[in-house]
Amino acid sequence: MEHLCPQIEQLVSCFTCSSQTLPPYRLCAKAHVGCPSCIKYMSLCACGSHFLKSPNTIFDWVVSAMKLQCKYRANDVDDDVGSSGPEQVDCADRWFTVQELRDHYLTGCTKNLFTCPLQNCGHVARVDTITDHYETVHGPFEPLSFNNQQAPKCAIFKLHAKKQSQILKKICNGYFMFSVKKFRRRYNEFNPIPLSMQNINPSDSLKYTYTALLESNQKMIIVSVTLVEPYNFWPKI
Ligand SMILES: [Zn+2]
Ligand SMILES: [Zn+2]
Ligand SMILES: [Zn+2]
Ligand SMILES: [Zn+2]
Repeated sequence: MEHLCPQIEQLVSCFTCSSQTLPPYRLCAKAHVGCPSCIKYMSLCACGSHFLKSPNTIFDWVVSAMKLQCKYRANDVDDDVGSSGPEQVDCADRWFTVQELRDHYLTGCTKNLFTCPLQNCGHVARVDTITDHYETVHGPFEPLSFNNQQAPKCAIFKLHAKKQSQILKKICNGYFMFSVKKFRRRYNEFNPIPLSMQNINPSDSLKYTYTALLESNQKMIIVSVTLVEPYNFWPKI
């Protein structure tokens, strides 16, 4: 069974972000697989074609009849972390049906453990469920919308410049942790804005860039986060 289609991993990878994608599938006009987050947030597939609105039932059936491998099987983890419990399985050489794989990511995998990086938390969830933890324990988070006419895939917001803080913002599929360090009064080109950004949703494969600007009264930092589209759809000015 497992040798029915050894190339299955390539077939079910999102063409735009390359993450493993399970049925139901949505394809682009050139029949590339799109994962749910690329279909939701990207204008186009990485090849430049539009994503089709209709599902592809035949592809769903074909993949559901085959077996796939765990996408975390090559991850290195400590032997003593998460290897206890009767339902934990070593997935290095195993093949799963689609439903088995879904269950495996939620409860059985020993290689997808993820520790909440927020201050004083340390809760251990899984790559596939950590955002549920953010929402229920640290949230809820209202997603920031793209409200900039000039830059359509850009979210802009302000952070207090002088407070030392750690702020979480939800943008697209990502959860971004912004850390503002102690602000030095004389901000200039040698003294950059003490802000760092980290996307703490480990299952988000979309790419982002950001810029930070200080307001003239030096009280607020204006942050803009832009989603990078693999296909350069937006006209250059
Ligand atoms: Zn994708
Ligand atoms: Zn495509
Ligand atoms: Zn696994
Ligand atoms: Zn937490």
